[in-house]
Amino acid sequence: MSDDSCIHCQNVVCPRQEALQCDGCQKWQHRTCNSGVPRDQYRQAVKDHAQLELKCVTCTETSFDIPKQLQEDSIADEYIGDIPEDDPTVHYQTIEEGSNRGFRRLQLHS
Ligand SMILES: [Zn+2]
Ligand SMILES: [Zn+2]
Repeated sequence: MSDDSCIHCQNVVCPRQEALQCDGCQKWQHRTCNSGVPRDQYRQAVKDHAQLELKCVTCTETSFDIPKQLQEDSIADEYIGDIPEDDPTVHYQTIEEGSNRGFRRLQLHS
């Protein structure tokens, strides 16, 4: 595998050949390989030393579907700050066990 190989025909792109580099994946492609760039435009761009904007078929198809990688920085959310175990403002009420039992009398129908 070489970065110089055409993404369309897999053949090596020679410097003497008309070639274009994809803006997306930075891979090369022959102009004649489905690049969609007319020869006149290519020649003109070379002459003017202009950059031909090209996106290969793969990049064109996936450019709208590339999921943005979510940065895994949720570790900060998992950190729970120090909670004081002995908060002097909290007063615990002790409820005597069975204190509510008196209200649960069964009503007996005789
Ligand atoms: Zn090619
Ligand atoms: Zn590409």
